[in-house]
Amino acid sequence: MRGFVYNGLPARVLFGEGSLARLGEEIGRLGLRRVLLLSTPQQGGSVAEIARALRDRAAGVFTEATMHTPVAVTERALAAVAAAGADGVVAIGGGSTTGLGKAIALRTGLPQIVVPTTYAGSEMTPILGETEGGVKTTLRNLAVLPRTVIYDVALTLGLPPALSAVSGLNAMAHAVEALYAEDRNPIVDLMAAEAIRALAGALPVIVERPSDRAMRADALYGAWLAGICLGSVGMALHHKLCHTLGGAFDLPHAETHAVVLPHAVAYNAAAAPDAMAAVAGALGAEDAAAGLAALARRVGAPTSLRELGMPEAGLERAVELALANPYGNPRPLTAAGLRALIAAAWAGAAPGGDPGQKGARR
Ligand code: NAD
Repeated sequence: MRGFVYNGLPARVLFGEGSLARLGEEIGRLGLRRVLLLSTPQQGGSVAEIARALRDRAAGVFTEATMHTPVAVTERALAAVAAAGADGVVAIGGGSTTGLGKAIALRTGLPQIVVPTTYAGSEMTPILGETEGGVKTTLRNLAVLPRTVIYDVALTLGLPPALSAVSGLNAMAHAVEALYAEDRNPIVDLMAAEAIRALAGALPVIVERPSDRAMRADALYGAWLAGICLGSVGMALHHKLCHTLGGAFDLPHAETHAVVLPHAVAYNAAAAPDAMAAVAGALGAEDAAAGLAALARRVGAPTSLRELGMPEAGLERAVELALANPYGNPRPLTAAGLRALIAAAWAGAAPGGDPGQKGARR
């Protein structure tokens, strides 16, 4: 075995159906008296109910969490924290709500508890992406890590099937890229393969039976592991592309991951054979990229950047942006290679295939 460096990230995790009932106890465990709950506008009603159950431990609910953590929203949330006299925050929701909790923790040092309701995995990472003036910047700081994460499958039962599929593929992307990360290590490899296995088994069932609790639990478990992968090792071409495309063309986060993943994997296939074997093995497929494309199709995820709203005329700009400040990647990045990859993803062609042959090998 080759030598490696492993950095464990501190986290206290409560996993299991009904674990939300322990939120009050966890707030007490951290020595907090009054916490501000955070949510998106869409989840405000269910989070208000959770606040009521906490009685005087809840200082209120701030319901403005927004995709990509705009600094203007964070500033309003900081004012709400101060006005409520809160000594901690509880983020209940997906990556957008978790991002707001992290942004508050970064600026105030207040402890946070996160209750994830999607598969994005942000709660396991020291990464925070924020937007200001239309520009997204990403930082890494251990100060944004939650003190406690409560994974209660009951909160994921209402995640619509289409969102479950793309959110699950977003999680899978973290695990896939961890397997060929420059700083990969055998511990994270184990978690990555297990995450892919759990998600690949669960997602097709969830889109057919969204209230299947056993499969929902498997998906949440896979998402947790995938989040650890994202937080522990460096990501590569796939995450760089999604970051770039999402920012430049205002594309939806999880959907962009779902479209790009098989193409990024096909691009790297020859340069990372061990990772490809691990991905294929965990998927139960012969080929990693084709297996990921087949899974995406099976769960009804979008398959082209065109359908997500990227203009065809944006292709050259996307290539330029992807080449600027590239992340480490097993296969060197070339303009021609990236052009072919993005063109295939835009058209919904087979991964590694000819953009003129839509779905040729799917
Ligand atoms: P999201 O948090 O934006 O949620 C999408 C929508 O689904 C929202 O309207 C939300 O209210 C709703 N929703 C969430 N859970 C639900 C449920 N159980 N039932 C019904 N509706 C529900 O989406 P996301 O994909 O979880 O997060 C995306 C954001 O997270 C992006 O801004 C992305 O950059 C960030 N992210 C950050 C990291 C990190 O490590 N920093 C990792 C992954 C994602």
